[in-house]
Amino acid sequence: MRHLLLAACLALFTACGSNKTTSDTPATDTCRVAFSADSAFAYVKAQCDFGPRLPGSTAHQRCGDYIAQQFKAFGLTVTEQTAPLAAWDGKTFTCRNIIASYRPEMTDRVIICAHWDSRPWADADPDATKHDLPVMAANDGASGVAVMLEIARLAATLNPAVGIDFICFDLEDYGAPEGKGPGDGSDWCMGSTYWSGTPHKADYNARYGVLLDMVGGRDARFKYEGYSMKYASDIVARLWDAARTAGAADYFPTTDGGWITDDHVPMNEIARIPTVDVIPCYDSEPAFGPTWHTTHDTVEAIDPATLQAVGQTLLQLLSQE
Ligand SMILES: [Zn+2]
Repeated sequence: MRHLLLAACLALFTACGSNKTTSDTPATDTCRVAFSADSAFAYVKAQCDFGPRLPGSTAHQRCGDYIAQQFKAFGLTVTEQTAPLAAWDGKTFTCRNIIASYRPEMTDRVIICAHWDSRPWADADPDATKHDLPVMAANDGASGVAVMLEIARLAATLNPAVGIDFICFDLEDYGAPEGKGPGDGSDWCMGSTYWSGTPHKADYNARYGVLLDMVGGRDARFKYEGYSMKYASDIVARLWDAARTAGAADYFPTTDGGWITDDHVPMNEIARIPTVDVIPCYDSEPAFGPTWHTTHDTVEAIDPATLQAVGQTLLQLLSQE
């Protein structure tokens, strides 16, 4: 993902920024199902053990098989959506979106999603000689899928009164390095753009979606993202309330972040499913965190405490359905 327009959103959200507390609502039951950070961390490592999941690579193929197999082992129904998509550099890849459905028979549904591909270029690495090396993408990819897998593992125990579609989007992070692409953002988010125009099921709908992107970084802070507030402010409010109930308020400050081109934009604008992006906004540059699009985005830099905060928050939200 790309683009932070920090200044633009500050004025827009001032009016609603102070109205996000639970003080005037009844106390919420705390979810009794416990997210396991150790388990989620193991799912991060398992994906990285294949190597960078670069589009078209063997590691990508094998990791996709692993992700689908894990969801199936947890009893979910897996649908794979494939399509040849042309990238900004003229190459064509077989896009592979993996959709794992919990209680597929239910019509009332929500989406939890993340991208599972790795970026081929570490073009934000502080060492310019490494800009053409691939990104391991432990955080920028694997972390979101890992949190989804752990929630899928716990879904039957949680037994929420809603169907859940876990969507692993392909080809999110193939956007051109600065100055090389079309410059309008259309080179990013290929898998989610395709799915948003052609969902995996005819007449598909979901009440809302939550996108997870880079949810395992040390000291991550998830702030209100611009498009999430524009299209899904009520879900933002519920999710940040759930974080407070789950004891994760420190990770979810009620402050404004930036506007970010990410998989939730086509979901909101093409599929018209209100979708929130849970994505870090650090107080220092780079705003996505120190390992973003670098060779340092490795398993060693993943903090299980961040996975825990995000995972327990999602369980809390789902338990209230
Ligand atoms: Zn990325």
